[in-house]
Amino acid sequence: MSESFDVVVIGGGPAGYPAAIRAAQHGLKVACIDGWKNYDGSAAFGGTCLNAGCIPSKALLESTELLHRAQHEFARHGIRTSGVEFDLAAMQQRKAGIVRQSTQGILALFKAAGVTPLQGRGRLLAGREVEFVSHEGEARRLSARHVILASGSEPMPLPGVPFDGQRVVDSWGALEFDAVPARLGIIGAGVIGLELGSVWRRLGAEVVVLEAMPEFLSMADGQVAREALKHFRKLGLDLRLGAKVSSAKVGEQGVEVAYVDGSGEQSLTVDRLIVAIGRRPYTEGLLGEGTGVMLDPRGRIEVDEHCSTGVEGIWAVGDCVKGPMLAHKGKEEGLAVADHIAGHYAEIDHSLIPSVIYTAPEIAWVGQTEEQVKAAGRAYKVGNFPFMASGRARAMESSAGFCKLIAAADDDEILGVHVIGPMAGELIAEAVLAMAYSASSEDLQRTIHAHPTLSEALHEAALAADKRAIDCLNR
Ligand code: FAD
Ligand code: NAD
Repeated sequence: MSESFDVVVIGGGPAGYPAAIRAAQHGLKVACIDGWKNYDGSAAFGGTCLNAGCIPSKALLESTELLHRAQHEFARHGIRTSGVEFDLAAMQQRKAGIVRQSTQGILALFKAAGVTPLQGRGRLLAGREVEFVSHEGEARRLSARHVILASGSEPMPLPGVPFDGQRVVDSWGALEFDAVPARLGIIGAGVIGLELGSVWRRLGAEVVVLEAMPEFLSMADGQVAREALKHFRKLGLDLRLGAKVSSAKVGEQGVEVAYVDGSGEQSLTVDRLIVAIGRRPYTEGLLGEGTGVMLDPRGRIEVDEHCSTGVEGIWAVGDCVKGPMLAHKGKEEGLAVADHIAGHYAEIDHSLIPSVIYTAPEIAWVGQTEEQVKAAGRAYKVGNFPFMASGRARAMESSAGFCKLIAAADDDEILGVHVIGPMAGELIAEAVLAMAYSASSEDLQRTIHAHPTLSEALHEAALAADKRAIDCLNR
């Protein structure tokens, strides 16, 4: 006989576990199945994000940024240091502690909410049944009124460049290095390439990033991408654009990488190679016979705007469905589905998902880039405020970058906000809120921002859009 639940969630990452908690908050009987296993064989909720993505990468970014500041900025503050050293093992231990605390926290949250945690593999069967096999091999049948699929994604492999887990690794492997490679190669100058490239560069590696596209950070606003390129090159990242990798093999001297750029065939030898060319949806073993759930040509579970698969009671959220592969996007989808199941109104505005790259300077944006606005043909105005003109940013020794606001020329609608500079990821939240509630650029101008704060940069950028900035030249 099968055990019955109102909701069974398959996948306990940032899309799945919040969906389970929200459904339980609505008084539903919920189970959440998760199959994650760490390198040491331990099981943990939290998915890629908590175990091998957002959280461990930010822990290392923070530690290495502090190191970099101690080495290169403290003197400007009048702080004398000598012999600043780092201990990679201690850094990695701190990171592991933060990950452990975060993943164990989910079990505590489940307990408080009344969610049944099930660690092992889940497979959807026809008729809203789920087969669960625990890590110990015990099999159970569950039946559910609703099943939420949240199986996430996995690193995209590159043909001709096989992972060996030692020299040629994916982003998870690159978070676990126990020594700083003298020569590090990275394939892909996307978010992972830039974040992990910054980590290992700050620890002393020579880092070469091979990017197939001739354009740098093509998803970002062009002005932001140009500014970012300058800073990454200053950090010492050797960014080679228009460099398409064809193969890599491990030899005696290291990993030999073959690539083609505008000048023809090139080669590069590195000690370790990170492949970071994107992620693909992960649905292996998820769908049994006759479920009716469809995959699109890119392997993503097909869903409508409410994350319904079209099969009654079967939903899918997060990296395994269309849209940007971001933790906060998955969380929002998970919450909306749980609300929907409980009969509450829920809607997700996919046009207002913020993007953040946690480098130094940090990069964040929401809405359209200037290039997209231009291509759409709508008349617009732009306000730019350089952090150099912010007293707080100067006091922080973090005056690189700017805040840029794009608004419609006719009705002052905010179309996009782009920040490159200190705490950009925090600053963008105000822009998201403003845009979500249809605030105009003038509404932002008329909102009081505390002085001296970095948030004044957005205020001034809004003023600058109408040539009314006070603390910088109105250009
Ligand atoms: P996942 O987090 O992948 O979770 C899916 C879970 O489902 C996993 O635990 C998996 O084991 C489990 N599962 C799959 N199939 C089954 C099955 N059949 N049975 C049982 N369990 C199953 N995003 C951000 O927004 N901000 C960041 O700063 C950020 N940094 C990142 C850094 C790195 C290095 C990487 C790799 C990613 C980063 N991301 C970041 C992306 C983010 O991690 C993903 O978008 C997010 O984890 C997706 O959440 P999810 O719940 O859809 O999938
Ligand atoms: P990405 O899509 O951001 O970047 C991949 C890059 O690799 C692209 O620039 C692409 O042109 C390049 N590329 C592809 N094939 C190549 C080849 N053969 N040779 C050279 N370059 C090649 O993907 P990613 O950096 O792997 O990240 C994966 C996902 O994880 C992203 O969707 C991202 O949203 C998410 N993520 C988010 C954050 C964050 O929010 N801060 C951090 C890390 C990862």
